[in-house]
Amino acid sequence: EPLLDLRNLCVDYVSPNGMVRAVNNVSLDIRPGETLGLAGESGCGKSTLAFSIARLHKAPALISEGEILYQGQDVLSMPKKALRQFRWNEVSLVFQSAMNSLNPVITIGEQLIDVLLAHRKISMDDAWARGESLLKTVGIHPSRMSSFPHQLSGGMRQRVVIAIALALEPKLIIMDEPTTALDVVVEREIMDELYQLKDRFGFSILFISHDLSLMGEIADRIGIMYAGKLVELGPSKDVFYHP
Ligand code: ADP
Ligand code: ADP
Repeated sequence: EPLLDLRNLCVDYVSPNGMVRAVNNVSLDIRPGETLGLAGESGCGKSTLAFSIARLHKAPALISEGEILYQGQDVLSMPKKALRQFRWNEVSLVFQSAMNSLNPVITIGEQLIDVLLAHRKISMDDAWARGESLLKTVGIHPSRMSSFPHQLSGGMRQRVVIAIALALEPKLIIMDEPTTALDVVVEREIMDELYQLKDRFGFSILFISHDLSLMGEIADRIGIMYAGKLVELGPSKDVFYHP
């Protein structure tokens, strides 16, 4: 059974000139433990699709047709409480710029434990210990708990964002151009470490990028979008090498 199953999903933007269909009739599944790559030129609908999965798309976008099934459960009709649980405990999102998802005036330790305290019934001490352990997991020294985002390098900030994404042990991590702002060496380091964690914990990844060489290395299957449609979906080697 797929972890996530999108069926005939359509997402529209309401603009003064009428509706713009950003995601057009996309059907795809994400299997437990797999990395699904999603590629395609800028503006083809990748980010809109990614946000829509967790129903985090922003106005004026609206999901106009289709189904989003998570472990067989309909995400589009989930009541508020279940949706909150789904967003935080089942799925997490990592975006391109770590600066956009980290709060500049709060230490990274506080941001990490805030997530834990808000969603888990644990003590402050346990949350702190777990925060330190998560930082170690992504290759950051625990003494950095008291650092502010601007005191870290870009690569370290992105590691923190990944640590926060992993904090609640999600089954699916959606990454939209997660390493685009970083240099190639740092990017590879972070992806290698993420893959070690993936091997250990068995989560699935939806990896959105325009970097096809990186995607070819890390994805099990790749989908290609064009003008809102999914025009190709298959094992990485089949998508890349047409005989
Ligand atoms: P990608 O992530 O592949 O670059 P997007 O999902 O960002 O693509 O955009 C898909 C389409 O939706 C594009 O045509 C884009 O112009 C349009 N779009 C994105 N955001 C908005 C918005 N806030 N209002 C209107 N149209 C938008
Ligand atoms: P410890 O459990 O002693 O903190 P581990 O090395 O076993 O150390 O794990 C590191 C951290 O990564 C743990 O807090 C673990 O719960 C967390 N973790 C991150 N992502 C996941 C996930 N998807 N599933 C389970 N645990 C995860």
